[in-house]
Amino acid sequence: MDPILSYVRGRQTAMIETIRSFAECESPSDSPAAVSRFVELVADRAARLARARTHPGGRFGKHLVCEMTLPGRRKIGQILALGHSDTVWPMGTLRHMPFRQERGRLWGPGVLDMKAGIVFFLFAAEALRELDIPARSKVLLQLNSDEEVGSQSSRPLTEKNAARSKAVLVLEPGTGLEGKLKTARKGVGDFTIRVIGKASHAGVDFQSGASAVLELARQIDHLAAFTNLARGVTVNPGVIAGGTRSNVVAAEAHAVVDIRVPRMKDAAGLEKKFRRLKPFDQRCRIEVTGGLNRPPMERSAGIVRLFQTARRLAAELGIQAEESHTGGGSDGNFTAAMGVPTLDGLGGVGEGAHAPNESILIGRMADRTALIAKLLAEL
Ligand SMILES: [Zn+2]
Repeated sequence: MDPILSYVRGRQTAMIETIRSFAECESPSDSPAAVSRFVELVADRAARLARARTHPGGRFGKHLVCEMTLPGRRKIGQILALGHSDTVWPMGTLRHMPFRQERGRLWGPGVLDMKAGIVFFLFAAEALRELDIPARSKVLLQLNSDEEVGSQSSRPLTEKNAARSKAVLVLEPGTGLEGKLKTARKGVGDFTIRVIGKASHAGVDFQSGASAVLELARQIDHLAAFTNLARGVTVNPGVIAGGTRSNVVAAEAHAVVDIRVPRMKDAAGLEKKFRRLKPFDQRCRIEVTGGLNRPPMERSAGIVRLFQTARRLAAELGIQAEESHTGGGSDGNFTAAMGVPTLDGLGGVGEGAHAPNESILIGRMADRTALIAKLLAEL
């Protein structure tokens, strides 16, 4: 058996305990103190393997950068392993969704997205140290505290570290119960469409009003047609609000619209269409704010090469690695858009990210960890 795989298998109990301690340290994005507490826990666990530094996260928790101390004397270039410390689960979720081990899985908030991925990385680094397998490049681990809420605060740090790296390995979960790797992600953005109409009494003075609700309804019908499924472009008016009472012609209404684009050139055209929205009722005014937040991660030649390397290394572990594309974004979108080869989905194999059935397969922990270790040694 592959020596790394054999070592990691022997560490399974310790890995499960670490995942438990990470999941039981809740870290919702909107609770900076909790996220920073989790970051301290990770930094403690990484202390024997790295020099850890935190960076201020503004109104979010601290970002963590660990420079790993791996075997090998002459390091050439740098690899960035990227993840996030925040979860979508509010404080107190553990009370009704406790960490547990049953039916061959680990269950609990943030287990899949993405505390397992962090644990896999740390045990991969440990395996290289214990087996004295040299890593060719310097390796950084960066954990962002605001990924689930758009990565505004961490993006410059991600881009700075990616710019100096020859590859980025993203520790987000794989796709589906096969744990397919991710070689493409759609770009993500949102727009807020605000309509300002003119209020009036719905009974006494109906005609002098200009309904913002009616105008917004027409706009939504119009902009929903920007969806182009054949190109993979989707437009989702996910939030709508407006008006005050049924007997008032509404003076204000707004909608928040999510957009997804597989290619950068689709984004420009779509943004133009949103900016050009004109009122159907000339007495109404439309304000459009927002735009693309994460650029698409497009499947470049560099990404394909990186995937092929991962596939070869996985085969040595007896695993057939497959690739996938997804509509969901990650911080890998930023690094891929800079032209840095980025391979995503190297973390937990399971299902239920952001859902009550969030879980990972215990049987896939060892091969994922070994694959990360082999990538760190080879790249
Ligand atoms: Zn995630």
